[in-house]
Amino acid sequence: MKAATDGGTAAPLGVYVHFPYCERVCPYCDFVVAGRARARIDHRGYADAVLAELARRGQALAGRPLASVYFGGGTPSLWEPREVGRVLEAIVRRAGSTSDLLEVTLEANPSSLDLATARALVAAGVDRLSLGVQSLDAGRLAFLGRDHDPAGARAAVEAALRSGARSVNVDLIFGVATADGVETPDEAAREARGLAALGPEHVSAYALTIEERTLFGKRARAGSLPLAPEEHVAESFVAVAEALEAQGLGHYEVSNYARPGRESRHNLGYWHGGDYLGLGCGAVGALARPDGSARRYKNETRAAAYVRAALAGEPHETESEELGPETRLRERILLGLRLEEGLDLEAAAHALGVEPWPPARRRAAAELEATGRLTREGGRLRVPRAARLYTDGIAAALF
Ligand code: SF4
Repeated sequence: MKAATDGGTAAPLGVYVHFPYCERVCPYCDFVVAGRARARIDHRGYADAVLAELARRGQALAGRPLASVYFGGGTPSLWEPREVGRVLEAIVRRAGSTSDLLEVTLEANPSSLDLATARALVAAGVDRLSLGVQSLDAGRLAFLGRDHDPAGARAAVEAALRSGARSVNVDLIFGVATADGVETPDEAAREARGLAALGPEHVSAYALTIEERTLFGKRARAGSLPLAPEEHVAESFVAVAEALEAQGLGHYEVSNYARPGRESRHNLGYWHGGDYLGLGCGAVGALARPDGSARRYKNETRAAAYVRAALAGEPHETESEELGPETRLRERILLGLRLEEGLDLEAAAHALGVEPWPPARRRAAAELEATGRLTREGGRLRVPRAARLYTDGIAAALF
């Protein structure tokens, strides 16, 4: 996400609020999470800690329209809706002005989203629900360690769609191999069609990645985790894209699909290089300065330590990084090329006050163009559809 400018421009700002608790921790997850039963979460105390942080960082919101608020996690649908509402109200109040298109997203797990909860969240101001469905296959859900089954997933999507939310996203994981075998590209496409048929306005589809510091990472190192071959995953990426596009969901970002006008505004803020204010345990924020530099910070990742420090008014950042204009341009390339619309490199470089075409980048771009992995129209660069899966490597070649 992106954050506010220390120097006060009128560019819109997104706010990310991290809620770290999950009822159980999935074996592939390397987000900032703490396993805790819902009844044992200090809902109010956590909200108070976020509000205390907001009071200290709120200056970043001054004079800038609030574009989006994103409650991510963790499982924010475990958080009592009235506490979500209290935090949201304080952010909006502090911002002073909001964009006409203010978007408020909350991530939810099917096991903690029934119709009453979804409606209470909408009443609290949430207008976009993002559901961690991941699969509609019982075997794959069990393998992924999810605590919902296909029927529970369908019921939660239906609840979200009936809640009055403006938009609903569902997450899908493909490229999964279980003890019963590897998911074929056809199966991945069928699953994508099944999810789209439930009627969400947005689908995020990711290949399963094995992160080192997870249970799956440990099993992979021990050789006991079934893995899908890379070429299989690449074929599934294409099959999923075709299936979702055939259902009217535009492939606007490498991993994201939406009906027209239902793209995630908050995430577009990141991909467009906007600022974001991060609040909560483990949250990351990045605030630009008028000279083209920025500061990125990360909060304490241990929930109890974060809450204690935030409430006591003590520092709770564990990382702080200065980003020079050249580094920021590289990040713009990395994120902007993920979008179907691509990136206006020359405009981005101009805004940051740096040279768009140092000789090495010009040479790399020419080579990528010659091999069909990049197109150029004026200053705008795009990765053609056939090369999309390799966007990160293509972007890195342009650093
Ligand atoms: S529910 Fe989401 S955030 Fe929580 S452990 Fe599973 S993958 Fe991670």
